[in-house]
Amino acid sequence: EEVHAAELERTFIAIKPDGVQRGLIAEIISRFERKGYKLVAIKLVVPSNEFAQQHYHDLKERPFFSGLCDFMSSGPVLAMVWEGEGVIKYGRKLIGATDPQKSEPGTIRGDLAVVVGRNIIHGSDGPETAKDEIALWFSPTELISYANNAEKWIY
Ligand code: ADP
Ligand code: MG
Repeated sequence: EEVHAAELERTFIAIKPDGVQRGLIAEIISRFERKGYKLVAIKLVVPSNEFAQQHYHDLKERPFFSGLCDFMSSGPVLAMVWEGEGVIKYGRKLIGATDPQKSEPGTIRGDLAVVVGRNIIHGSDGPETAKDEIALWFSPTELISYANNAEKWIY
């Protein structure tokens, strides 16, 4: 197929402080990269507690919310945007179930995490949240559209 460069689906993926501290950045990035998805934005940030609350606003009634926000703001997070066909849904598949005890082996959480409170990675759960989360974490100029040579062999 031709020219797929411009308007592909995008999702927000973040390696949480536990994943960064455990030295899993390269391992996690390589899974998205090898699949054939394209990295279009990346930065290391320490989110404020308020920022973490914004990111997880949908969960503010949950009992673990404040612990979750404390954790997310406790150290560097690697924020990324990945692009490609089906990347929102398939990204979640690469990540695995929320609770690593229930994640399949072969998934990121299944292979690399043990408990739900330290599940090392975040991924947007749908098109709306992907759009919102990308806009929350990145300014438009930080999103890089580019052609790469592998694309014509992936699509
Ligand atoms: P996901 O990250 O798979 O989209 P949710 O959106 O339901 O999962 O929850 C967001 C994050 O909140 C989870 O990734 C996990 O870090 C944390 N979390 C979810 N459920 C629990 C729980 N029961 N106890 C502690 N932390 C939890
Ligand atoms: Mg979620």
